[in-house]
Amino acid sequence: MKISCEMAEDLLPLYLDGSCSMDSRNVVEEHLANCPGCHAKLSRMQSDITDGMQMQVEVQEPGLADYAKRIRRHRIRMAEFTVLVVLTLSVMLAVGYLTIQDMYRQAHPDVREVEQGTYNLVAGAVDTTAEQIEQFVFYTNNTQIQVRVLQEEGWQGSGTIMLWNTIYKDNFIQIADIGGGTGSVTFTNLSSANRYKITCENMDGALLTVSDGRSVSFWKSLRAVLGEIFRIL
Ligand SMILES: [Zn+2]
Repeated sequence: MKISCEMAEDLLPLYLDGSCSMDSRNVVEEHLANCPGCHAKLSRMQSDITDGMQMQVEVQEPGLADYAKRIRRHRIRMAEFTVLVVLTLSVMLAVGYLTIQDMYRQAHPDVREVEQGTYNLVAGAVDTTAEQIEQFVFYTNNTQIQVRVLQEEGWQGSGTIMLWNTIYKDNFIQIADIGGGTGSVTFTNLSSANRYKITCENMDGALLTVSDGRSVSFWKSLRAVLGEIFRIL
């Protein structure tokens, strides 16, 4: 059966997706065999369909791939963030622990045995009076001795506190004025190899506390710990 090109064109879509009857199919194929124009049209339609399917695939795939990539990137970022947080916390914990350990060591120093008759300021401060202070011989391993006038006792004068080195035949080494009924002096650059004596002038009635001036501070210990860490690094 012969059909016109128009009719073949109408049937081509059905022919292509295989939804036409066997008779129509035979008729279309017969026409196509003798009509290069319709044959070319069929080829075009076939390649359009293939392109369309490919395009769909291409449009879908990048979307999916992008999404998967985003998820992967997000997971990697989360993992990196977690590692960073755990590392930071660990370092902070370690530094905090070392700092507190350092503070404890400073608050509880090893008390070295010193000879009898010498007061070891490492073991703690001593309370005395201006009149009795010269009976003491002091030892310090903290390079300093601090003399504090107790405010609550109300000594209102002003006087002088002197530091002597008893190892070198009572060599006088430092002098400090104190006044106003309150205050403290700190003698520095001292050595644990020496023994020290303190005398007061014009301070009768004053109550004094003598210590090695040790002050335990978190920040001081933190600085020491960080300094030690960076020294090792
Ligand atoms: Zn034709």
